[in-house]
Amino acid sequence: MYQVTKRRIAILGSTGSIGTQALEVIDAQRECFDVNVLTAATNADLLIEQAKRYMPQVVVIAKDSLYAYVKKQLDAWPIQVLAGCAAMEEVVLRDDVDMVLTAVVGFSGLKPTIAAISAGKDIALANKETLVVAGELIMRLARKHGTRILPVDSEHSAIFQCLSGEKGNPIEKIILTASGGPFRGKDPLFLSSVTKREALKHPNWSMGDKITIDSASLMNKGLEVIEAKWLFDLDADQIDVVVHPQSVVHSLVQFEDGSIKAQLGLPDMKIPIQYALSYPERLKSDFRRFDFKGFPSLGFEEPDKASFRNLDLAYRAMNLGGNIPCALNAANEIVVAAFLKDQIGFLEMSDVIEEVMAKAAFVEQPKLEDYLSTDQWAREWATKLVTKNKILHQTEKNG
Ligand code: NDP
Ligand code: MG
Repeated sequence: MYQVTKRRIAILGSTGSIGTQALEVIDAQRECFDVNVLTAATNADLLIEQAKRYMPQVVVIAKDSLYAYVKKQLDAWPIQVLAGCAAMEEVVLRDDVDMVLTAVVGFSGLKPTIAAISAGKDIALANKETLVVAGELIMRLARKHGTRILPVDSEHSAIFQCLSGEKGNPIEKIILTASGGPFRGKDPLFLSSVTKREALKHPNWSMGDKITIDSASLMNKGLEVIEAKWLFDLDADQIDVVVHPQSVVHSLVQFEDGSIKAQLGLPDMKIPIQYALSYPERLKSDFRRFDFKGFPSLGFEEPDKASFRNLDLAYRAMNLGGNIPCALNAANEIVVAAFLKDQIGFLEMSDVIEEVMAKAAFVEQPKLEDYLSTDQWAREWATKLVTKNKILHQTEKNG
């Protein structure tokens, strides 16, 4: 049994799906964790409620205009209130923070993660977009500062767990499992008219809107392929994807002797969240247990890359390297937001991403500034393409 001293946690994105589940984990393990920082973008009321319950040293509300409201509500409490995106980069540097859980969504995680790594804090990484955008830079900084990056994403946690005790044994390949999402087995004709309501109904996981759409379009798996490349130092041909609709086998590692190890469990993000927070200890939990009797058969099938083009686009971006995955990520954030506003069809999301990737000016060895400018350029270009698309739709409807 390990002797853990209390770990002091900063949760970036505490009001989201991962953030709230992390607080549930911490609730059940109060003797192991203190929450010293909580942050949200706009959900001020939930942030205030969390602050009163967990008594962090500081909270950050990213949207500046909500500062006065949060400050007033927490006036009688010994909790510092900060506002703005830059404040997320400040709070991770605090001496009373040992570990930062990055549970914000999208590119917004990049700068605070870089700040936390540079300050030598352990990272429990949920925000996969950070590694997609700047994996080379992030891993280089982590090595330089001796920072541990502990995966929260269930597939990467599975691989991380399979690698335990395997130091010195090279990975032959990894196999990432994918549920296939709500549209598994559907053809492009069907996909051309799916709505956001249908896309938001994930069969196995309850998650934030952005990752739920990414799961429906297989972009989530594409992002995870790139995430795995950086976390486990792999080449493209060492990363396979298999569709496994039950989401019980969370991923697998094949070693050079042909042996395969897998990690299993019910689809419950609290397990990988807790493992990252308590690593290397496994804390006793009352999470629901897997029972084979409830799963008489587990299925595995090839992903349908012809209908769901995002997976290949992500492999292409990864193979091209440099700033191209950053362009892919930015374009994807724009098209997902547009799809959620009914401004673009499901299949058109891939068209826009492909065009943005094709037009991006290639930077082979990007620095932070290159990632920032690529992100901005790709967002603008993708927005233009979405707008063109909207006009086209309108003309078709009217004609
Ligand atoms: P949610 O949308 O549920 O939550 C996002 C959190 O980040 C919220 O607290 C939100 O605040 C905050 N936030 C959003 N935008 C910004 C911004 N620009 N600046 C600062 N804070 C911001 O997302 P999820 O919890 O689903 O996902 C979080 C990350 O974890 C993603 O990268 C996702 O890919 C990854 N992940 C999620 C899984 C899941 O099961 N949900 C599984 C594996 C990985 P507010 O509430 O105020 O808007
Ligand atoms: Mg995942």
